[in-house]
Amino acid sequence: MTPIKLQNTLTNEKEEFIPRKDGVVTMYNCGPTVYNYAHIGNLRAYVFADVLKRMFAYNDYEIKQVINITDVGHLTSDADEGEDKIETGAKREGLKVKNIIKRYTDAFMGDMKSLNIDIDKIEFPKATEHIPEQIAFIQTLDEKGYTYKTSDGIYFDTSLRKDYGKLGNINTKGLEEGARIEKNKEKKNSADFALWKFSPPTGGPKQQREQEWDSPWGVGFPGWHIECSAMSRKLLGNQIDVHTGGVDHIPVHHNNEIAQTESVTGKQFVNYWMHNEFITIDGQKIAKSVGNTIYLKSIIDKSFSPLSLRYWFLTAHYRTQSNFTWEALEGAQTTLFKLHKHFVEEYGAKDGEVNKEYENKFHDFINDDLDIPKSIALMWDLVKDESVPKEDKRSTLLEFDKVLGLGLDHSDKKLVTLLSGRGDKLEIGKLPKAIKAIVDEREEARENKDFKKADELRDKLQQKGYEIEDKEDGPDITKN
Ligand code: AMP
Ligand code: ZN
Repeated sequence: MTPIKLQNTLTNEKEEFIPRKDGVVTMYNCGPTVYNYAHIGNLRAYVFADVLKRMFAYNDYEIKQVINITDVGHLTSDADEGEDKIETGAKREGLKVKNIIKRYTDAFMGDMKSLNIDIDKIEFPKATEHIPEQIAFIQTLDEKGYTYKTSDGIYFDTSLRKDYGKLGNINTKGLEEGARIEKNKEKKNSADFALWKFSPPTGGPKQQREQEWDSPWGVGFPGWHIECSAMSRKLLGNQIDVHTGGVDHIPVHHNNEIAQTESVTGKQFVNYWMHNEFITIDGQKIAKSVGNTIYLKSIIDKSFSPLSLRYWFLTAHYRTQSNFTWEALEGAQTTLFKLHKHFVEEYGAKDGEVNKEYENKFHDFINDDLDIPKSIALMWDLVKDESVPKEDKRSTLLEFDKVLGLGLDHSDKKLVTLLSGRGDKLEIGKLPKAIKAIVDEREEARENKDFKKADELRDKLQQKGYEIEDKEDGPDITKN
């Protein structure tokens, strides 16, 4: 079998994967800032991490996986300026910070499950639940002389790390030049970043924070980068195998994680850094300011299955930029529908043999820096190959789906209908009274933006045999 090869951002080379410990992979995926729904670009990052994990599992590795939940300290600008996104989100929705965190953490978990991301064995540590660990980490950096104090916080002096910027070969000289427009004049170097920020001093701008903690340096909150260093060290150890994130994290966030962790441990932090490229819309970055943000719920509202989004993600290599269009999603859904239809209507329920020739090719593709597009093309070759018996197709496809996660293991007529987009709509007025009452109650919950309750009521409807889909002019109800 071809060994696993991964494109490593640290060396800019495709390298053979050698685990730190035989048979075990430790993996950290930078997670969401829970101040809003994750948009489809963010979701690509987690589908990528999921497929990567499944590839390791396919190669018989035991995986220790961590995805952090950022619920404090991520400011509106990567340069440690601006407001805390979580505090701003709470103001926007007139909610307490803890309720914003809960709402969007729950929504994130829901999105992950809908995308068939296997979350059972993942650890999801929250930054706010690891404040002592972050303070201890900063204290060690302090003792080692890497920090300095300004009027607004404790900063990391990047000039003390000769290899600062090594990930992606970031040109810190370029950053120095940019320093002229640097807002924070107290920073010694423009790449320096906050480890701890002080709550606004009394007499300063009155921006009361809901989340702040005591520390040896004063009341405040941790900088955004320190949580990843502190939590990955706590949960996975000083050195880990794989760390992932979107390409936007290379220049600042990940170089800062490296600087922090390697200064404390004196050892190489991560062996394989892997980054997914961006999802764009109309060729542009997804951003609220552009007004082009699409969430998973926007997709579900238009009657698409989340699995179709997953399939669409998988048709592009994780290192290629991919432009989202509704037509492309439509195409993905139609193709996925065909796959499930073949599977459910033709290949029967009896297991056959896994076809070794196809399986070997599949294994080679996924081990080659996760070449999922090739493995999907192979899957279609298999579907079309008349020399392979139907029950063998079934077993081989189920084998492929351990990595692809396209839902074949729970495929049935209902899912085929859902993917066909042709479920028969029921008239709300003619629903049984008890069912209509739940539908009405759910509409009311949605109007009150009580999405948790709305989700619970959706589950209740499902248990009673009904699917509900939210449309602009009210919900569509179908029998499941
Ligand atoms: P954030 O919640 O902003 O910290 O981002 C969560 C993850 O999504 C990170 O790994 C980002 O690098 C990644 N990400 C952000 N925007 C995009 C995008 N448009 N396409 C792909 N990945 C993205
Ligand atoms: Zn991180």
